[in-house]
Amino acid sequence: MGSVSLVSAALRRLEGKVALITGGSSGIGESTARLFVKHGAKVVIADIQDELGHSVCKELEPEPASFIHCDVTQEKDVENAVNTAVSKYGKLDIMFNNAGIGGTPKTNILENDKAEFEKIICVNLVGAFLGTKHAARVMIPARRGSIITTASVCAIIGGGLSHAYTSSKHGVLGLTRNTAVELGHYGIRVNCVSPYAVPTPLFKNFFKMNDDELKCIYSNLKGAVLQAEDIAEAALYLGSDESKYVSGHNLVVDGGFTIVNRGFCIFP
Ligand code: NAD
Repeated sequence: MGSVSLVSAALRRLEGKVALITGGSSGIGESTARLFVKHGAKVVIADIQDELGHSVCKELEPEPASFIHCDVTQEKDVENAVNTAVSKYGKLDIMFNNAGIGGTPKTNILENDKAEFEKIICVNLVGAFLGTKHAARVMIPARRGSIITTASVCAIIGGGLSHAYTSSKHGVLGLTRNTAVELGHYGIRVNCVSPYAVPTPLFKNFFKMNDDELKCIYSNLKGAVLQAEDIAEAALYLGSDESKYVSGHNLVVDGGFTIVNRGFCIFP
């Protein structure tokens, strides 16, 4: 092996690993699929946006990924997605429960209807539960694995998005901690990533913002703009062996947004 290929092999942090990414057709999931493939992982994208998912899979480099239709609220679909990853690539090392919806911005609880509340809980929380459950099913016999879920800053603060969304993400954090306790027994790590505002279709549709408005969104950290790629980097860390002793952790990627209360702060 020449020195150039030795270096590139050393830089591939997921070489030989198999990853399943829900919500991988768009936004954070798509960026993560791109980064995971670059780092040597075999990737399966599971999503309800089939056409988009297939086209993302085809253009991934150096190796295309596989797409499977999967509605994360349907246990059979999730079971099938996990089984497909295993039958195609022989195992599952990384489960990224990332599919999610934002719902509609309703600031008055009296306007919140039960059906929408249930839908958001179902995709964001029940979907993560099903992904965790079926990943655990194949990871337990292997005595290893990394399960990652996309939570949100709304998992630790109130007032960011709707009641349903905030409840669903608080639930994801609880699910992460509880399953990390149980699955640690089998050598399986369970963590979540909590992004602040990332300019994806979910975010743009919820806040009805154009790209210029998005650039002006409040940030505690000046000089850097949060992108989907930054969340992919966090997922890469949690999926790789570099985080081998990290479990039950919520990796907050918010530039310090949630650690300060601007109503009581001595700094400008
Ligand atoms: P996105 O809309 O670009 O991507 C979400 C993906 O999930 C889409 O491809 C969509 O088709 C898929 N999806 C939706 N419902 C599904 C279902 N029932 N089954 C399978 N797939 C489904 O949005 P994004 O911002 O990349 O969202 C990814 C995750 O990040 C979500 O869990 C979201 O809550 C979370 N998040 C986003 C932000 C942000 O600012 N964008 C901040 C914090 C957390």
